Formats: sequence, C-alpha cells, structure tokens
Amino acid sequence: KRERQLLSEKQAAAGQLAAGIAHEIRNPITAIKGFMQLMMGEHKGDTTYYNIVESEINRVEMILKELMVLAKPTKINYQELDIRSLLDKVLTLMESQTLLHNIEVIKNFHALEVMIVGDENQLKQVFINYLKNAIEAMPVGGKIIVEGIHLNDSVHIRIIDEGGGIPNEILERISEPFFTTKEHGTGLGMLVCNEIIEEHKGKSNIFSSAEGTCIEVILPSAFQLQ
Ligand code: ADP
Ligand code: MG
Repeated sequence: KRERQLLSEKQAAAGQLAAGIAHEIRNPITAIKGFMQLMMGEHKGDTTYYNIVESEINRVEMILKELMVLAKPTKINYQELDIRSLLDKVLTLMESQTLLHNIEVIKNFHALEVMIVGDENQLKQVFINYLKNAIEAMPVGGKIIVEGIHLNDSVHIRIIDEGGGIPNEILERISEPFFTTKEHGTGLGMLVCNEIIEEHKGKSNIFSSAEGTCIEVILPSAFQLQ
C-alpha cells in the first residue's frame, strides 16, 4: 500500500514538473514568435528585437541545460575525489563573479584530508549552484565562507553567505521546480542540487537567518588520507 502511495506521489511530482517545463518554455517561445512576426512586418531591420529574441533563446537554452541534469545522464562517472581540489577548482571558476560583486571568499577546508567518491562534474555543479545563489543574494558584496569538516564517516561542506537570508515562506518552496524570486532565475538550481546529492547518498541542510544563509552538504567519505 505504502509503495503504491509512493508511486502515485512520484507520478504527481512528474506531472507537476512536466507542466512547469511546458509553461517555462512556452513563454519564451511565444515571445520569440511574436518578435519574429514584428521583425518580418512593420519593424523590418529593427535590431533591438534581435537582442530580445536572442536573450529569450538563451533562456530556453539555460532551462534545458539544467533539465538535462535531472534527466540523469548515462555517463555518470564515479571516482575517488579530493574534495579540497574540487572546491578549489569551483572557486577558481567563480572568481570572476565574486570579484565583480566585491565578494571576499574565505576558504576553510584545506584541513580535510579525506577522499569522497562521486562524479566530479555533477558535484562541481552542486557547489556552483549554491555559490551562485550566495553571490546573487549579496548585490553589494560581502563575505562567503566555504568550510569543510570531517565528522565520523562523512564530510560536511558549508557555504555561508551574508545575503539577506531566506524567509520561511520562501524556504518552504525553495526546491519546487521553477520556483524563483529572481527576475531572470530559472528556479531549478536547488532542485538539481538535491537530485545530485541524493544520487551521491548525501544530504543537505539549509540554515537561514537575517544575517545570511548557510547551506550544508553532507557526503559520505571514502577513506582517510595517510
Ligand atoms: P534561482 O537561483 O534560479 O532563483 P534556485 O533553485 O537556485 O533558483 O533558488 C530558488 C530560490 O531560493 C531563489 O530564487 C532565492 O529566492 C532562494 N535562495 C536560494 N539560495 C539563497 C541564498 N543563499 N540566499 C537567499 N536566497 C536564496
Ligand atoms: Mg540558483
């Protein structure tokens, strides 16, 4: 009985996701169609419309890119990873954005002498998504702390920002597909992170207050480095 209930919950969630995808993709497509018509008619040669069409196409592309992760690619490549170098790579990747937004990143994970097992690209995606959210929560800059500790058989990575925090009514909905409070958000970041973390037998926690947000990712450790 419980299994059947779980299945119908899953089907309901899939239906909700499909409806969300249809909606999110229909909007930009409708806009593209409208502007194409304008460009073929009285506004022939008006390049401002090309820019709108291009940005709408980019939006569809971005949504599809994020959805691909949810579609579980067949080439998941599990390997032993040093979480420190993975985090270093991600932070280097994000450096132009943190610099641009006046954000100081404090790294506090180099004492982690433990390996994990996972797909490097997927785990990178998790930390990129969380860091992006942290950066977007701090429009006037501030500090992001990335810390890592080894507890029992798991590693705990925390990303702590000084953004405005997440109000409770938003916290409840944060992992719903397409839920966003941003003008140009996709609302898929948290969902994608949850999927990947679950796939890695991990867990995530969110702590938030008016001072900011702490996202904690817990992943099973493989073995201690000698
Ligand atoms: P998106 O970033 O495209 O809006 P996400 O799924 O990544 O979608 O996040 C959903 C929402 O959760 C965001 O729109 C924002 O309101 C909230 N959120 C996520 N992380 C943070 C954070 N670090 N600080 C404040 N709000 C956040
Ligand atoms: Mg996001």
